[in-house]
Amino acid sequence: MMFKNNVQYLKGVGPQKAKLLEKLGVKTVYDLITYFPKEYEDRRQLKAISKVQDGEETSIQAQVVNQKIIYTRKRNGILKIFLKDNSGEVVLICFNQMYLADILKTGVHVVLHGNFERKLTQLESSNFTYEILDGSDNDLIHTKRIVPIYGLTKGLNIKFLRSLIKKTLDKYVDNFQNMLSDIIKHEANLCDYIWAIKEIHFPQNWQEKEKAYRRLVFDEFFLFQLALAFKKKGIKKIKKSFTCRLKRTLLTPFRQTLPFDFTPAQKKVINEIFSDMQSIHPMNRLLQGDVGSGKTVVALAALLLAVENGRQGVIMVPTEILAMQHYINLEKMLAPLKIRVDLLAGGMGKREKRKICQELKEGKIDIIVGTHSLIQEGVDFFQLGLVVIDEQHKFGVNQRALLRNKGLNPDVLVMTATPIPRTLALTVYGDLDVSTISESPKGRGKIITQCMKEKQAYRKVSEEIEKGRQCYIVYPLVDESESLQIKAAVKMFEKLKKDVFPTYKVGILHGQMKKKEKKTVMEKFVEKELDILVTTSIIEVGIDVNNATVMVIENSNRFGLSTLHQLRGRIGRGKHTSHCILIGEFKAFEARRRREVMLATNDGFKIAEEDLRLRGPGEFFGTQQHGLPELKIGNIIIDFKIMEKTREIAFKTLERVNLTDFERSRIKDALWERFGSNLKWLSVG
Ligand code: ADP
Ligand code: MG
Repeated sequence: MMFKNNVQYLKGVGPQKAKLLEKLGVKTVYDLITYFPKEYEDRRQLKAISKVQDGEETSIQAQVVNQKIIYTRKRNGILKIFLKDNSGEVVLICFNQMYLADILKTGVHVVLHGNFERKLTQLESSNFTYEILDGSDNDLIHTKRIVPIYGLTKGLNIKFLRSLIKKTLDKYVDNFQNMLSDIIKHEANLCDYIWAIKEIHFPQNWQEKEKAYRRLVFDEFFLFQLALAFKKKGIKKIKKSFTCRLKRTLLTPFRQTLPFDFTPAQKKVINEIFSDMQSIHPMNRLLQGDVGSGKTVVALAALLLAVENGRQGVIMVPTEILAMQHYINLEKMLAPLKIRVDLLAGGMGKREKRKICQELKEGKIDIIVGTHSLIQEGVDFFQLGLVVIDEQHKFGVNQRALLRNKGLNPDVLVMTATPIPRTLALTVYGDLDVSTISESPKGRGKIITQCMKEKQAYRKVSEEIEKGRQCYIVYPLVDESESLQIKAAVKMFEKLKKDVFPTYKVGILHGQMKKKEKKTVMEKFVEKELDILVTTSIIEVGIDVNNATVMVIENSNRFGLSTLHQLRGRIGRGKHTSHCILIGEFKAFEARRRREVMLATNDGFKIAEEDLRLRGPGEFFGTQQHGLPELKIGNIIIDFKIMEKTREIAFKTLERVNLTDFERSRIKDALWERFGSNLKWLSVG
């Protein structure tokens, strides 16, 4: 297979250049022909020499008329090459390029692209690229056309790379077999694949380039969606060892003790989840809903269904504080039902942990809440039926898989309060079923978001406390280390307690406190024994105190939109009007944009879309292993329409009854070729 050959063996490459190419991710001939231009330069227009301005970058066509070498004391020798067209003369100044004397010989015709300067009466260029005209006009690749610009690395020159790609395309690309070509060409009205590859490197004009681009993006996305479709189908094929039945021995009493009714939106998603759990195939579902939409009770209903069927349930969350809060809540809600709930978190003693693991294994614990500690070795279940992962975007793909593997094909429910923009939902979570809680419980007060100076903010805080409400003051420094963040929060805490709010009860909560302390502070805040909670961004997720109506965010200019929205989601949970107060200097463009968005909307989906636009898909998910594919050409935001189309065709293709064995094997080969055994970017719920 020619296309898998190492580029080293291409003419003119050799081991050294191959090493440089490898730095660009180019190892094989295939890599080379799919190393697409990062941009283009339009060098189609040629200028008459007399019209070239001082400081201009442009192209000319001329003939060499003379050469001279000038010796100076400092330099070895400077080569000057004189060229002429009908309108005037230009001098090329060549430093350390003596070899050009043999190439740009008198009489030779060239096209030249460069930066020009007018010195006295003379036009000069010392920074240029040239191409010799040999009579046939066709094969110009560096000049007099739309010229591809490639990403480079030190030691690799653009002209070399461009020529190499051109030569390789000319020689080999016609033999390239695109395994999927026919399957999608029929369905999507696309141009020829091989034509597209040639065109994307050396386009005839912009329209043709666009056509080629669409074709190649289509191919790339299609393959990706095929992989997702395969994965989804694969899960659907697995049979669970156990299927839940709706017994209601726990669910009915649970509903009766709840102080509220489920919203229609909650009912809808509970039905979707229950129907998955009663199916013979494992559930693999994403539950999304804005902050405060009430995902926890939905998860709880699912956990109870598992427990009333004699299975165990687990809920994993990203922070200890959230684990604690869930644990406190669950214990309270489930106490009347005689269900055993327990907590496993990092800060616990060895002995305590060992005891819990033992009981978990023996099936004495029905529901366990915990952090990453749950995925460690030594944590085993008796009969794990349901895995719930809360705020799942804070976990990596592998961590989710590890937890799932603690059971034998358990049902899996992942929850997120960062609404995933549709663009990403189709890619990163393309193999999951999705349930959306589309509306929050009624009767909540609205949230007013404002920018204020500190003094003004503190006045608001007092006002609300006087009304009997409670407040968060978040003191984060995103760029600094966690311990610096905590220091800042502690300092602030002392100041607030002593100088600003001496008559109020102020508490502090941060990640480095002992488990017991955290629990005490949390409980105090819940029980209204604290008026103000000073904290770091660890409370971003989950915390749920209805009486809190003010969220003051210091340094808010330094936060991403998702974090700001999550923090704001901590208030507005009761019936009172709430206030989100942003403090900070909004000088940078992006910070201003974020502030604008925060002030304009409370809609988590809109905010997520904007966040994605501002930061791009990689950043949007933070540093976690997010499961985005590496793309060579497509852009999942800009080319969203194509993604949708490929998804439709990919899923349809696999469902086609008359898919021949030949087609099937071609699809598998194509997937293997593109992703190899390294399919781990697929999100494993
Ligand atoms: P999130 O979706 O952000 O995880 P929570 O599950 O923490 O939201 O719920 C937010 C708050 O709304 C909690 O105090 C919860 O008790 C309350 N809640 C949940 N469902 C309802 C409902 N149907 N009616 C009224 N309040 C509800
Ligand atoms: Mg939650």
